[in-house]
Amino acid sequence: MKKRVLALLLLVCMLCSSLLTGCVNAGTGGSEQTEDNYAATDALDAMQHVNTQELNIIDDNYRNVYEIFPYSFCDSNGDKIGDIQGIISKLDYIKDLGFNAIWITPVHPSPTYHKYDVTDYYDIDSSFGTIADYEQLIKECHDRGIDIYMDLVLNHTSNSHSWFQEASRYVRSLLPGEEPSAEECPYVEYYNFSKEQKSGWSKVGSEWYYECQFWSGMPDLNLDSEAVRKEIDNIVSFWLDKGVDGFRLDAVTSYYTGNNEKNIEFLTWLNKCIKDKKADAYIVGECWADCVTYSNYYESGVDSFFNFDFATNSGTIATILRGGNASTYGSKIVSTFDLIKAKNENAIDAGFTSNHDNGRVAGTLPGAKGKLKMAQAMAMMIGGSYYLYYGDEIGMKGSGDDENKRAPMQWVADPFGQGMCKGCTTKVIEHTNGTVESQQADKNSLYYYVQQAVKLRNTFPEIARGETTVIEECSNEEVVVLKKTYNGDELLIVMNISENVNTVDLSGVSVNGKETGDFKVVGTLLDTAEMVKKDGSTLEMPGYSIEFLK
Ligand code: CA
Repeated sequence: MKKRVLALLLLVCMLCSSLLTGCVNAGTGGSEQTEDNYAATDALDAMQHVNTQELNIIDDNYRNVYEIFPYSFCDSNGDKIGDIQGIISKLDYIKDLGFNAIWITPVHPSPTYHKYDVTDYYDIDSSFGTIADYEQLIKECHDRGIDIYMDLVLNHTSNSHSWFQEASRYVRSLLPGEEPSAEECPYVEYYNFSKEQKSGWSKVGSEWYYECQFWSGMPDLNLDSEAVRKEIDNIVSFWLDKGVDGFRLDAVTSYYTGNNEKNIEFLTWLNKCIKDKKADAYIVGECWADCVTYSNYYESGVDSFFNFDFATNSGTIATILRGGNASTYGSKIVSTFDLIKAKNENAIDAGFTSNHDNGRVAGTLPGAKGKLKMAQAMAMMIGGSYYLYYGDEIGMKGSGDDENKRAPMQWVADPFGQGMCKGCTTKVIEHTNGTVESQQADKNSLYYYVQQAVKLRNTFPEIARGETTVIEECSNEEVVVLKKTYNGDELLIVMNISENVNTVDLSGVSVNGKETGDFKVVGTLLDTAEMVKKDGSTLEMPGYSIEFLK
């Protein structure tokens, strides 16, 4: 009986607060399904359907981007290899999560499952589909307001690419003492050949070496070559003409290994090459480096570089969630913003937690589900665009070997179920924290949390586009209070980044000229059914909760 009364009370409180504030909430119910939690779930459903604030989707390049590793994402034809038609079949799923852009890792013909060694930049790998499938994908994305970013691997090709095949055949044919000539073989200048053996170079023929910084199967392109730049110009034109909205640039620090200045110079050329063809095209670069280093790359004019400082096992987000100081989250957002905007006033930060090269966040932060929820929210609240690696919305695990980080998307529990892929490893690894199917049936799931958090990004443009101020007097080891300002409008974000209950006194803080007592709760993200309690200017916040106020 007592449980029923409590449940009813909670339901009434939630409905009242939603009617007053119209909040977007996420996360109800503890991990055990009790009667209380079911009641809370009903209340959440009622609120979301009746009181969700209007979305405020702006057609610019600040987006929520869903990263797809096609081999492992969704199979449409029963060969257990993910494909373009599989991606098309999941666009509604992606849209329903609130994402309005996708980045697909390479889809060009290639001898590997990951396809980062391209043999033809103008085609689609036959295991993924055809050019016609890709054209359909672009159209189906655009029909849903989703932008599509193509992965552009320009540091190297496959050694099976016809350019390298011709170049290496020619170099092998050279007689001792003969120098290569681009007049005899134009492709010889597409790559870097030398008689000197250096680190990251492999032998070809009896006395020559070629640069291949990753491995011998990936010869580095000579990006100084005018002919190579003409090829790149053609490739970019080909796909922009088909309708892609932007590019993700692979391995930009390796363009000229160890030479940031030359890398930035090349990116400046490439940025202009792309934007001259399509002014609003979006470019994001993989500059796998610390913030001070990658901030310099913004001088190139490229819109975004992935924020590696906050991401991965050793980054700010994971460090804080393992017990680090919460207030550093705020101060680092401010210092990163200042650094990148000083180099390019149009810079768009690119927050994420993991990607196909990094251990998934669920492995980095074992234990409480609240940490996984908070990790995604922290990546979203940095500002700029937000990237989610497929499967992180359900807390998939995977670390160690690259193949483990690229496991089959867990749509359903049956490995032979609809859309399921075989994946790229034969090892048996437990990848789930619950499948998509099971989490869609559980309002307390990470899946629902991500959906609600993305909804907040789509409701309040301040989150992605605003400038951040840290309210220092309210922030401490476990709590950080951010004010985001965009177009003169302010949003207060109070984050309890710990498992403990924290009381936050907002006295003296003003938002949009309002005093604390007049603040309205416009959104809440919760780990469990435990609600945030607001009393005047004081918030009592359960562990891993976030309150949004205006
Ligand atoms: Ca397939």
